[in-house]
Amino acid sequence: MKDKHQNYDNQNVFAKILRGQVPCEIFYQTDDMMSFYDSDPKAAIHLLCIPKGSYKDFSDFNACGSLKEKTGFWDGVAYVVKQLGLDVGGFRMIANQGKGGGQEVPHFHVHIMGGSPLGTLASS
Ligand code: AMP
Repeated sequence: MKDKHQNYDNQNVFAKILRGQVPCEIFYQTDDMMSFYDSDPKAAIHLLCIPKGSYKDFSDFNACGSLKEKTGFWDGVAYVVKQLGLDVGGFRMIANQGKGGGQEVPHFHVHIMGGSPLGTLASS
């Protein structure tokens, strides 16, 4: 049977954050997910939400995550959005994947950005 974590690099910075080896400013966490502030914010409010399981990107999480992990993750994202009042004011959610998507950290994450007008997504 395929080991679902065989392509996962456990030395990536988010894996280290989850192990407590790299500090971060945690906003919220549950058994299934963690949300913390991006260290190089691109908006007035810029947080990252990650599952606690070892999934390298959205496709990996979607294919190999359990129903509990998926529900727990997305419910956590929704809670964060609501706690920040972004469900009312509006926000942007982005998940970069792979080289083509510009993903830098190979642990699945969604960016939550808002708190100031973000404009349209693409400028060209
Ligand atoms: P991506 O390009 O989608 O992989 O985004 C990775 C994001 O992680 C970037 O916005 C970085 O600023 C952010 N980041 C990298 N290291 C840290 C860290 N130690 N704490 C918080 N955010 C980080």
